[in-house]
Amino acid sequence: MTPTAPGRRSRAFWRDAERVLAGGVDSPVRSFRAVGGTPVFFASGRGAYLTDVDGHRYLDLVGSWGVNVLGHAPATVVAAVESAARRGLTFGAPVPDEHRLASEIRRAAPSLERLRFVSSGTEAVMSAVRVARGFTGRSKVVKFAGGYHGHSDGLLARAGSGVATHALPDSAGVPPSVAAETVVVPYNDADALASLFESAGDTVAAVVVEPIAANIGVVPPLPGFLGTVSRLARQHGALVIADEVITGFRLRRGTIHESLGLSADLVTLGKIVGGGLPIGAYGGRRDVMETVAPLGPVYQAGTLSGHPLAMAAGRATLARLSPVVYRTLDRVGARLEADLRDGADAAHVAPFTVQRAGSMLGVFFAEGPVVDAASARRSDGARYARFFHAALDRGVYLPPSALETTFASAAIRPADLARARTALFAALRAARGGAR
Ligand SMILES: *Cc1c(COP(=O)(O)O)cnc(C)c1O
Repeated sequence: MTPTAPGRRSRAFWRDAERVLAGGVDSPVRSFRAVGGTPVFFASGRGAYLTDVDGHRYLDLVGSWGVNVLGHAPATVVAAVESAARRGLTFGAPVPDEHRLASEIRRAAPSLERLRFVSSGTEAVMSAVRVARGFTGRSKVVKFAGGYHGHSDGLLARAGSGVATHALPDSAGVPPSVAAETVVVPYNDADALASLFESAGDTVAAVVVEPIAANIGVVPPLPGFLGTVSRLARQHGALVIADEVITGFRLRRGTIHESLGLSADLVTLGKIVGGGLPIGAYGGRRDVMETVAPLGPVYQAGTLSGHPLAMAAGRATLARLSPVVYRTLDRVGARLEADLRDGADAAHVAPFTVQRAGSMLGVFFAEGPVVDAASARRSDGARYARFFHAALDRGVYLPPSALETTFASAAIRPADLARARTALFAALRAARGGAR
């Protein structure tokens, strides 16, 4: 049994980090604020497992927020990065791996007729929005409540009162005038979208949508919803941006929006296609992408864009993403889903809902089905926190926030799942808490 986490060294590092990093972290969810306690610091990761600085081992069900489809430090990816590093770290000039990775992506995701690499998903979506505005000459962007598209100003917006009103800033520092260019509609609400397009369709540059919402747990689209999104957008001359930063190359080799009935003009990728290095990519229709400088008037640039190490890691990762890997990811996801359901039944935890897309699982201490941000937010955060900590103490690392997605990797073996099952059952008993 793993001693209670975080251990002595993690706690000491946390005190040091808090003295120099803002809030002790470089991204807020890492702080454990949402579940209480202080974060675990990691020393290394290999395959399905993480090892913390106190020497505790955890089965990793976060995978760097979905990045690590193959598990940690896959040998061929590490070797590709090492070899690229020996050739030089950055040139700020073309290297062959950029167009090679782009071709490999396009072969798997043909809707990206032309693409650009950037250094994060945030940048990818921000740039795609700029391109959509430049192409259409319009300024409004429609997003769905609970959709996460990175932390650029315009996309940190939440719904105002009433449908189809201007959005409010969802962060201090976002000017109301910027948020007002965004319109927020409930996810899976085709009627709300239709009435918005009816009243203001000719001002909409783009609708940006996660084909499967995966930043409020996992919330699949209702039948017909995404078809309606593309139909309305087309009718009103707006573009569709499929944000596949999280789903692209995780659920299949390529993008998922087509098979869900969404036709997209622009697509964003990130996370997985960088193989663990910083990356983002945006692309789509050739005529739309040709508005980007140097061909067109939309400016977008980056000192480290198309970074040689990220390109090498991306290529080595794509080389491993065979049908066998996706079958494994799906099998591991299905097994975790069943274990969580069985564990909740055995512990008499109710309400409890698991929603899964391949290797992505949404775990909700709430009544299902969860169809939008409002229903996801009904999940009991206190129960999730107990579940999280009990799993952590038993060597299973889950996302440290109730509204984040749990990710499986293809490095997880049946024996790992058998051990995890015992831990998850105990964690679900702990989640129930109190006398009952
Ligand atoms: C993670 C994510 C982003 C932002 O990517 P970063 O690399 O964290 O900037 C954008 N969109 C979606 C759907 C994401 O999951």
